[in-house]
Amino acid sequence: MSKVLIIGAGGVGNVVAHKCAQVPEIFSDIMLASRNENKCKAIAADVKAATGREIKTASVDADNVEATVAIIKKFQPNLLINVALPYQDLPLMDACLHAGIHYVDTANYEPPNHAKFEYSWQWAYRERYEKAGLMALLGSGFDPGVTNVFCAYAQKHLFDEIETIDIMDANAGDHGYHFATNFNPEINIREITQRGRYWEKGEWKETDPLSVRQDYDYPVIGSKPSYLLYHEELESLCQNIKGLKRIRFFMTFSDNYLNHLRVLQNVGMTRIDPIEFQGQQIVPIQFLKAILPDPASLGPRTKGKTCIGCDITGTKDGKKKRVFIYNICDHQECYREVKSQAISYTTGVPAMIGGAMLATGKWLKPGVWNMEQCDPDPFMEMLNKYGLPWQVKELPVHG
Ligand code: NDP
Repeated sequence: MSKVLIIGAGGVGNVVAHKCAQVPEIFSDIMLASRNENKCKAIAADVKAATGREIKTASVDADNVEATVAIIKKFQPNLLINVALPYQDLPLMDACLHAGIHYVDTANYEPPNHAKFEYSWQWAYRERYEKAGLMALLGSGFDPGVTNVFCAYAQKHLFDEIETIDIMDANAGDHGYHFATNFNPEINIREITQRGRYWEKGEWKETDPLSVRQDYDYPVIGSKPSYLLYHEELESLCQNIKGLKRIRFFMTFSDNYLNHLRVLQNVGMTRIDPIEFQGQQIVPIQFLKAILPDPASLGPRTKGKTCIGCDITGTKDGKKKRVFIYNICDHQECYREVKSQAISYTTGVPAMIGGAMLATGKWLKPGVWNMEQCDPDPFMEMLNKYGLPWQVKELPVHG
């Protein structure tokens, strides 16, 4: 039995709150805190209606370590699940260290004024977490998160040696807007406008943004144009999967989405540096976020499915082998269950499961860990039980 403090009442925070409430035998007491407590209260009311459980709420500025420590001291949780923004990762890791509780997040740290994400800042906490006997579990969403666990499962059960991994992320959902992002627009646009990057034979290779495309035939949703992006799980998986020769990440985008993005970029609306506007400093991408549809509002209008998985090649018993391990998630089914579209759902369910892995002691070990460094089996079991069932499909080996 565990008391959990969830930070961030956005699209993902809503799902984490619902999912933790569905597992009272693990999460005996839940608090949801965010900058805006009204958002927490609205989610708490929905959770109460759906599950009958009371969730406590609070207001906190998670950039302020003392403020988070004060809430932790008052509520006394064993564990904090961070589903605020990547900018809050370091102050929240500091707060957990100060207050002596475990930490889980879904996205790696990004400095607000520099569009760059990497694990170095969070890996630098390893010794402090080890010494304190605390665990920080990094990247417990879908990608990163479930994709890392799929790779660990393949390494443990399906291959003697893995050679290549392509992480394939397809969203065949339609929300009916000309342009909207499925999670925080600022974080999303910063991620996909960066240069592409993948790892091969021990080296990082760079590509122009969205310049490498393959039409991949996804189970259930069919063939979709998929573009190579840099994604954070590549950084840890290339270190932790033995024998790996290449790892890449692809995500689907429609031509319509890419046209809008190109225009927004060309006119400077995706800039992250402040500009002067009518006597005020504004950051164009933050202004753009304010006028785009709120991702949380897409839930009721989004139809269709997502398919995210790992296309893995390697050898087993001396023979070449290729598999696709994946999950299919339906936007409307997610909405019926927790009033959210599938992107927040596929992130929030693994965040809850990551928390459960620590709360039940199944993954608990001091230090800072990425998902593939823990035993995939209990996590894979919970995915099937809590809304993200997975499949393994054998594929023909490439020429
Ligand atoms: P939203 O923008 O919908 O929600 C973020 C929430 O964080 C907001 O409610 C906001 O609070 C809160 N917040 C922001 N700053 C602070 C602060 N200083 N103190 C307290 N709360 C704060 O984002 P999402 O829910 O879509 O995404 C949440 C996280 O999940 C992000 O880090 C994102 O990168 C990650 N993610 C991970 C994925 C994966 O598969 N691994 C996929 C998708 C998302 P308020 O509204 O109260 O102001």
